[in-house]
Amino acid sequence: MAISFDTSHNPLIGSEERLEEDLFVITAPNASPMTFTGTRTYLLGGDNVIVIDPGPDIDSHFSAVMNFLTGKKLTHILLTHSHVDHSPLSRRLKNETGATIIGFGSADEARTDFMNDLSSTIDLGGEEGIDTNLVLDEKVIDGQILKLNGSLFEIVHTPGHLSNHICISWKQKNIIFSGDHLMGWATTLISPPDGDLGSFMKSLEKLALRKEEKYYPGHGKPIADPLAMVEAQLAHRREREKQILNSLEEGSKKPAEIVDQIYVDINPLLKKAALRNVLAHLIDLYERKAIYVKNFSIEANFEIV
Ligand SMILES: [Zn+2]
Repeated sequence: MAISFDTSHNPLIGSEERLEEDLFVITAPNASPMTFTGTRTYLLGGDNVIVIDPGPDIDSHFSAVMNFLTGKKLTHILLTHSHVDHSPLSRRLKNETGATIIGFGSADEARTDFMNDLSSTIDLGGEEGIDTNLVLDEKVIDGQILKLNGSLFEIVHTPGHLSNHICISWKQKNIIFSGDHLMGWATTLISPPDGDLGSFMKSLEKLALRKEEKYYPGHGKPIADPLAMVEAQLAHRREREKQILNSLEEGSKKPAEIVDQIYVDINPLLKKAALRNVLAHLIDLYERKAIYVKNFSIEANFEIV
């Protein structure tokens, strides 16, 4: 496959790194096969600070953020989405500083009608990793412009990884905080019903039309050539869809069989994620009536129409 990822990354853990003027990052100590080198908590501004994605509620991470805030004021907490590796620390930070927590809405806020109907009649599994205790002070919508501490931010709703996922454009700097939607070290997990491949592709197409020069993702290094990565990931998913259809044509029927056939040499720890991604593709193909299945389930037999 044509896509190439940069998996070299040695972030500092426990204190901030300066990325550019008025932009710092503290990497949380939660490295794993799913979170790569850990969640990236971005800190924007000088005396008045905005945090994007506070990360998991881990004491040492909280201390690192509070150390950075010494002599400064935390005014706002922006959330790209409500997964447990991104939003939980917002509560402790709010208690400590009184900052306003801003995000798109609940995890299922923007699920499509199709996904809602499917998930209300069928157990799709998934729904892993949602921060169910999150309470937002302010909700934003797609296209909204926020003026915070003299900076302008545009909200770009990018459902797919999670239906409440947003990317946040910092207008003056011409950069985007891309959360888990677009990262440079791997493709994102799409686990139905929260994850939705059809929405994910539309969200990538939306980014493909934008002009920002640099993306700062929720995990891993900045993406210096983001539009090339957007195109590469679109192509990668289309290629994956082709592989799934080929696999069905060659006789695979169940999602697990498809995974075995197309994910060769996969890290065993990522096999479950691969199964979720294949399910996401199957749901998308089913919605587009490209495949047939009698009783939709993760154990069902799928067939080409
Ligand atoms: Zn996530």
